[in-house]
Amino acid sequence: MAQPSLLERLGILADAAKYDASCASSGTAKRTSKGGKGIGSTEGMGICHAYAPDGRCISLLKILLTNHCIFDCHYCINRKSSNVRRARFTPQEVVDLTLSFYRRNYIEGLFLSSGIVKSSNHTMEQLVEVARILREEHDFRGYIHLKTIPEADPGLLAQAGLYADRVSINVELPTDAGLTRLAPDKSARQIEGAMAGLKGEIVEAKDARKRFKSAPRFAPAGQSTQMIVGADAATDADIVGKASTLYGDFALRRVYYSAFSPIPDASAVLPLKRPPLIREHRLYQSDWLMRFYGYAPGEVQQAADADGMLPLDIDPKLAWALKFRERFPVDVNRAPREALLRVPGLGVRAVGAILASRRHRTLRLEDVARLTVSIAKLRPFLIAADWRPVSLTDRADLRALVAPRKQSQLELFAA
Ligand code: SF4
Repeated sequence: MAQPSLLERLGILADAAKYDASCASSGTAKRTSKGGKGIGSTEGMGICHAYAPDGRCISLLKILLTNHCIFDCHYCINRKSSNVRRARFTPQEVVDLTLSFYRRNYIEGLFLSSGIVKSSNHTMEQLVEVARILREEHDFRGYIHLKTIPEADPGLLAQAGLYADRVSINVELPTDAGLTRLAPDKSARQIEGAMAGLKGEIVEAKDARKRFKSAPRFAPAGQSTQMIVGADAATDADIVGKASTLYGDFALRRVYYSAFSPIPDASAVLPLKRPPLIREHRLYQSDWLMRFYGYAPGEVQQAADADGMLPLDIDPKLAWALKFRERFPVDVNRAPREALLRVPGLGVRAVGAILASRRHRTLRLEDVARLTVSIAKLRPFLIAADWRPVSLTDRADLRALVAPRKQSQLELFAA
């Protein structure tokens, strides 16, 4: 059969890469400008966004080297037994595509993943080769994120980190039992062993650079991972627990959550429906609570209902506040930063502004209102110079009072 054209393969392999999460942006409505009508299509293939270590949002060409795979993970469209159309790039083709997208100013870097062909080592060698050619032969200074293969030789993973800004290994499922059932060719021990190896290389390289300026960098943007949500019976509490172990044990920069999406010819062991996208969003919010708001993993788990699932209609910070009402109201003029960060609707920036301005004057409710989206939702949880909620915090119907109406959601990170 004739090899599909480069453009056809780009279509196949960019589409296949969309299941890899590299940024936390949720989906948007699709608009096409095909047919010459309108500009600014949101259906362009293969470009995604990620955050650089300095906080810039950068566009990446996001593709797979190949969607052939010798493994048979039930949840994956590229698994061996799937009926999907297959394609494959050579390392040189990926290099040429990256450079031509880069020169046209479409992208600032590359996100490269792959199915496993022939063997884990063979595939990893090819991924490394792409990054090597880009860096060594073209002096490419753009961002490179390489998905690495935990079953590959540690020496190859170490090479990947010398060329890539970020390396990642997918942990895939929140529990070992889920992994055994849905990804029978993978092993939790191997995945975590590879993550530990990368962590060791990152720490060593940082240490060496402190002593010798010329020491090589190793994955300066760190390592990340991805967990599939909703393919097995793991609860949100399980997922939060797993994420916190991963952050603690492997110093990960990010854990990405990817809502399981039903795939064509899906295996019978998978659920028929995808979980609501809002579940993925709530997990990202809980992740923020741990990383930026000082919540311990156990506290985020306490925000979950009795079945271990975070409520979908309110964000986890509000859910926690409603359960632990005795911690409120918080005085905006006296409370420490940690207590202010617990007030639903007050983001990190708003708390910073409160701390800065209360040095000069006593804050009234309207001063706080200027820093938030909806002061009505905050009233039960705070005290200001001219405001004290009295019995509001104890009301049995408080949840109904502060839960966002369908259209106007209380923004956890509004600041
Ligand atoms: S190894 Fe990766 S590409 Fe292959 S089936 Fe599993 S998840 Fe899919």
